Amino acid sequence: MNALDIKLWGVRGSFPAPLSPALLDKRLHDTVAGFLEKYPSGSVADMHAYFKALPRHAHTGFGGNTTCVEVGSGSSRIIIDGGSGIRSLGYELMAGPCGKGHGEVHILFTHVHWDHIIGLLFFTPIFIPGNRIHVYSVDSDLKDVFETLFKKPFFPVPLAQLGSIIEYHRLEPRKPADIQGIQVTPYQLDHPDPCWGFKFEKNGKVYSHCVDTECTRVTPEELGADLPLYQGVDLMLFDAQYTLMETIERVNWGHAAASLGLDIAMREGIRKVIFMHHDPASSDDKIAAAEAQARRYYKNQLNSNRRDSIARLSEVDWSFAYEGMHLSL
Ligand SMILES: [Zn+2]
Ligand SMILES: [Zn+2]
Repeated sequence: MNALDIKLWGVRGSFPAPLSPALLDKRLHDTVAGFLEKYPSGSVADMHAYFKALPRHAHTGFGGNTTCVEVGSGSSRIIIDGGSGIRSLGYELMAGPCGKGHGEVHILFTHVHWDHIIGLLFFTPIFIPGNRIHVYSVDSDLKDVFETLFKKPFFPVPLAQLGSIIEYHRLEPRKPADIQGIQVTPYQLDHPDPCWGFKFEKNGKVYSHCVDTECTRVTPEELGADLPLYQGVDLMLFDAQYTLMETIERVNWGHAAASLGLDIAMREGIRKVIFMHHDPASSDDKIAAAEAQARRYYKNQLNSNRRDSIARLSEVDWSFAYEGMHLSL
C-alpha cells in the first residue's frame, strides 16, 4: 500500500479556463491530420498510440479547473482547497457513503481567494443531510466565508439550509495536527491575505503543498521558521503561474515561476516537484513553452553547479501538472 496518494482535480490558478469548442475542433483536426499523414491506413489502435505519444499541449492540454488536490492514505482522504476541480471529486464521493448521508469529508484551505473556494457551490456532498464536512484553516474565519459564499441573491441556498453539518477547525501555524491519521503541519507561503502551505507526513513519506506562493523568500535565512516545509520532502507541489519574466513584471501578485521552486528543490534535495496553478490566460502552448524554458534553466543550473560551486545541487524529477494527474509515495 502507498503511504500517500495524491490526485490533482484542478491545476489552474485564479479563474477556471476551459478549452473552447473552437480550439478543441482545431486540435482534433490537427491531430487526426497528423496521424493520417504518418499512418495513411492505420488502425484505431494505431491512432490511440499516436495520440498518447503526442505532447500534452497538442492533445488533451493541462486542464481548466481551479485548484483542488486530494491526498489519500488507505481509507483516509484529505482535500486541499475547493476550487472548481472539487465539483468532479464531489461526484466521485457521492458513489460512496456521501451519497447515503453517512460521509465524512475533510477539506483544508490554504487561503480563501475565489479560485480556492468557488467549487464548493457545486460540491454535491455538502447538500446531502447527514454528511459531515470538516473544514480547516489557519487564519481565515471559515464560518464567515461560507456564510458569504452561500448567500442570497448570489446563490439560492443559504448556508443554514445546506443539509450537511459543517464543522469548522483551526490549525496552528507550524504545529503538527493529526487529520485522518495523517500528520499535517501548516507553514506560511508568500502570498497576499495570507496563504498557508501544508506538509503531510505518513509512514516516513512527505508531501509538501506550496501553492499559492510568490516565493519572495528563498534562502534558508529568509525562510526561517517556514524552512521545514521544504526539508526532507519526497514530493512538492509548487506555484508556477508565471514565466520568470512575468514574475519580474508582476511583483506582489503572489505567484512564482518554476525556476524559483527548482532552486529550492535542488538545494534542499527534494526528490520530485510538480508545478501547478497555471495562469488562466496561458494557452496550453504557452504552458508547454514555460516548461521548456524551466527545463533549460534547470540544466544550466546543474551544469554550472558541477563546474564551479561548493554546495552541491541535487537532481530533481519534475514536470508541470495536468488535471487528473496521479502521484504516489
Ligand atoms: Zn490561487
Ligand atoms: Zn490566492
